[in-house]
Amino acid sequence: MNDTSETFDPALLTPITEERPWAAFAVCKDRDPETFFPTTPEGEREAIRICQGCSVQEDCLDFAFEARIRFGIWGGLTEKQRRSLQRRSA
Ligand code: SF4
Repeated sequence: MNDTSETFDPALLTPITEERPWAAFAVCKDRDPETFFPTTPEGEREAIRICQGCSVQEDCLDFAFEARIRFGIWGGLTEKQRRSLQRRSA
């Protein structure tokens, strides 16, 4: 387990709620959430590869921005990539 537990509950990755109906179509819903909190460059590439085959990638990325999720791979982007995008769009 990495140090994301204080700021983010990995269980939030998959629950389908009224606010996140798209999660029903998430490729990651049956995968180990830890996959999306990689600790190595190889793990990061693997998570991104999975996201690239996900039909709800855009919804997921929007959610990560709206929820200001700081850790993990969301919508196929790393935390660093999301921060960079946010800076450019600010
Ligand atoms: S884009 Fe990636 S993290 Fe987001 S729902 Fe799809 S597989 Fe899961």
